[in-house]
Amino acid sequence: MTADLTLYNSLTRSLERFEPLDPAKGVRVYSCGPTVYNYAHLGNLRAYVFTDTLSRTLTWKAKENGWGALTHVINITDVGHLTSDADAGDDKMEAAARAQAKSIWDIAAHYTAAFKQNIHDLNIREPSRWSVATDHIEEMIDFAKRIAPDHCYELDTGLYFDTSTVAHYGQLAGAQDDAAEGRIDPVEGKRHPQDFAIWRKSPPGEQRQMEWDSPWGMGAPGWHLECSVMSLKYLGAPFDIHTGGIDHREIHHPNEIAQNQAFCGCDDSGAHFWMHNNFLVDRQGKMSKSRGGFTTLRSLIDAGVHPLAYRLLCIQAHYRSELEFSAESLAAALTRLKRLVITVRALEARVEGPEAHVEEHAWLDQLDAAAADDLNTPKALVVLDEMLADKRLTPSERLSLLIHFDGILGLNLYNLTRENLRLRPANATLTAGDIEARLAERKQARAARDFARSDAIRDELAAAGVEVMDGDPLGWDWKPAL
Ligand code: AMP
Ligand code: ZN
Repeated sequence: MTADLTLYNSLTRSLERFEPLDPAKGVRVYSCGPTVYNYAHLGNLRAYVFTDTLSRTLTWKAKENGWGALTHVINITDVGHLTSDADAGDDKMEAAARAQAKSIWDIAAHYTAAFKQNIHDLNIREPSRWSVATDHIEEMIDFAKRIAPDHCYELDTGLYFDTSTVAHYGQLAGAQDDAAEGRIDPVEGKRHPQDFAIWRKSPPGEQRQMEWDSPWGMGAPGWHLECSVMSLKYLGAPFDIHTGGIDHREIHHPNEIAQNQAFCGCDDSGAHFWMHNNFLVDRQGKMSKSRGGFTTLRSLIDAGVHPLAYRLLCIQAHYRSELEFSAESLAAALTRLKRLVITVRALEARVEGPEAHVEEHAWLDQLDAAAADDLNTPKALVVLDEMLADKRLTPSERLSLLIHFDGILGLNLYNLTRENLRLRPANATLTAGDIEARLAERKQARAARDFARSDAIRDELAAAGVEVMDGDPLGWDWKPAL
């Protein structure tokens, strides 16, 4: 029994049954990628944990249904994204290059590499293609030339898209329309507030680090253009699924849709499903790069938290729910990850005889049903706990089932060990060995009822960022203090 895949389509604001447009060709997915002017913050990374869950589920469903292989494209935005989502402000890349006195290319290379490291640390599968915006400038100019006569007008500042020339502009934004309008900056001469730049001319007398010649003068493409061009180039139109964070539902994706409609001369949005992950928030609100003080994955690792604890934190929530990030929620996810690792390693220790290979089982049907229900990972995690505790199965059978579960959840549980989870903070003054030695000393002190000495050792460890855990139910002696 395999469950029908149901996904939430932001375009219709409803759950819909998903079928590939061309099953033999395989599902085609485009995900808006990072703007590489800074490190990705944890909120950005939530967007890619979501796309990874989607891609893992589609791969699972492709196998079940005999669809062709998944094609997944993620772009790298290295030009055109302004400091506001609309058409005012500086180019984020130019601004970062100036602030750091580096070339834009160096900035892009540095933050792209850092992003790919995050992807690796979160056990996110690489897409079939990373497509870099600046590798596609000629194609963007060609696209703009084709739509310009019927859909664009020129101002001193650039070439603008007239949003009244396409049907249902902003349908995707729906009820959010008013909120979005507040974020659109006025540009002198625009026909409608929602009109947006396709090509931005370099200001007279100013030379940009990144600029190209075009029929509308030297300048750079507008941010929305790249995603229309690259999705069309690599996936064809229409393709199956377009993803992004929920902020993109208001401006970026409606603008892409308008361009796609202009290009095809039809009402088609360009993609069958538009899917959006909700925000990661902290106590100050939505996490964003421009707010500053954001938390990176590197900062978690440096504090001694395994990156997969963050992945678990993400998938404990449904992708369409807002998720609150705090030291407590992260610590709880880390504890849950430890518990899973201990359970799996204990099963492994009990394996006798040959390995089992379970390909079909009622537990896999339950996992399938959860994933097929609009990627219900919180449910899938509960099913995982129950499966691991199912005494009717041998340890070897449970481990074999685990491999299938991990295909969807991506927690690398088959390989992670207790030792892997013991990351030491980057600024740690004590090694794991030092800590073990201190704990052994403390044990002796306690055995000798020298509680003053035992407390002193605990305080000394606390000062070094190590929390002693007496009587921990999971058998952990210490953990990094968060
Ligand atoms: P950017 O690098 O700003 O272009 O964003 C990369 C991705 O992260 C986009 O899909 C955004 O919609 C998404 N995003 C930005 N902030 C958050 C957040 N706080 N929570 C979840 N996703 C976010
Ligand atoms: Zn995009």
